Amino acid sequence: EDQTPSPANSDSARDRAGVIHPMTDLQRHDREGPLLITRGDGVMVYDEDGKAYIEGVSGLWSVSLGFAQKRLADAAYRQLMELPSYHLFRHKSHPKAIELAERLLGIAPVPMSKVFFANSGSEANDTAIKLAWYYNNARGRPEKKKIIGRIGGYHGITVASGSLTGLARNHADFDLPLPRFLHADCPSHWRYGLPGESEADYAARLAANLEALILREGPETIAAFFAEPVIGSGGVIVPPRGYFDLIQPLLKKYDILFVADEVICGFGRLGAMFGCQVYGLEPDMIAIAKGLSSGYVPISAVMMNAKIWDACYAQSGKLGVFGHGFTYSGHPVAAAVALEALDLYEEFDIVGNVQRLAPVLQAGVQSLAGHPLVGEARGIGFLGGWELVSDKATKAPFPSPGMVGLMAERHCQARGVILRALGDTLTTAPPLVATADDIARIIAVVGEALDATH
Ligand code: PLP
Repeated sequence: EDQTPSPANSDSARDRAGVIHPMTDLQRHDREGPLLITRGDGVMVYDEDGKAYIEGVSGLWSVSLGFAQKRLADAAYRQLMELPSYHLFRHKSHPKAIELAERLLGIAPVPMSKVFFANSGSEANDTAIKLAWYYNNARGRPEKKKIIGRIGGYHGITVASGSLTGLARNHADFDLPLPRFLHADCPSHWRYGLPGESEADYAARLAANLEALILREGPETIAAFFAEPVIGSGGVIVPPRGYFDLIQPLLKKYDILFVADEVICGFGRLGAMFGCQVYGLEPDMIAIAKGLSSGYVPISAVMMNAKIWDACYAQSGKLGVFGHGFTYSGHPVAAAVALEALDLYEEFDIVGNVQRLAPVLQAGVQSLAGHPLVGEARGIGFLGGWELVSDKATKAPFPSPGMVGLMAERHCQARGVILRALGDTLTTAPPLVATADDIARIIAVVGEALDATH
């Protein structure tokens, strides 16, 4: 049989014939086809022609330990041979889920009581939303159900987590957000601060606006506030100084649960095990995913404090069952890989590596702040972003949002670095095992790519 590749049977043609790509311009994809990645090793990935790329966003902010970590593969294989699949429904359990829950509770940034496992960041946040509702039903407050996210926040894409997400591109024509979901201000001081307004004043204004929103809606109707410590998919938005110190007391004052979405920030990305530690956050629930397994297998979790757990426990007594769960909640292979990943975070001193090299990355990010296309260069830890604008002085965005960002992304790709443009913000989130040389290469390529983008 003739196996000669031809345009008609190429992987590219087969991709276009059968695969719908998430978060993709479907018509552009049909014209241009996929970037076909076939292999990864360390911080590098390789396409079908063998061309090498630095994976400058760790896949989707997930492959923190780099590609081809044999220890993670071996852990998966061992578990597949021993107990490839099992579940936690109706009193069933298995050792890996138990051990992972213990490990997570042991490293939680604030005292947490229990862990609920899921498969994706979206499911973790959906679970946290449902738990906030369940909690208030358990406490006899059925009207306290509204959920507050933030403009620019990203919490996932399911019907509920997608409603919580504060990005128009994820709402348009999907009829989101659902009722009950509200969005507070975006914490970008550079974009939304008033002329002459300090970061501290901006943070105070956002806190005042949040309090006004709470009072307008009625505190007795608001269940929870969700925030990423640093916004990721909304374009790497670092909160203004003092922001969370003003927000958290408001949530306490009005008896509103605080959920920290650590899906990107968790497991070392900001130079601490959790973003909560960087910003002094004391959430009632924490959503984790991505780095939990270094992105090798799907797994996520919600950690909850005693307040939430007590409500679940009491309600279960009343209803006879805790009626929530996924077939793959606590999947043994995923749990085994996550346990091995947690070992590797410690053995490789990942937090230490990020602390040592974050100044290198951040200096590199800032070295491009003067570029004519760069409105703001920003970041923290192993997160960086360049918000591109048509006019540096007025901060005016480009007339067709996302096109210039995409162009910059493409120029990076042509030069062997995969980055991600979110709108017109070009972002980087290198694997946490990256070296100073990897970082230097990323920054050099971004500089060249920006020069090529006009
Ligand atoms: N929360 C945050 C902060 C994220 O960045 C993401 C994904 O990028 C999610 C939630 C959703 O995770 P998933 O795509 O695994 O559903």
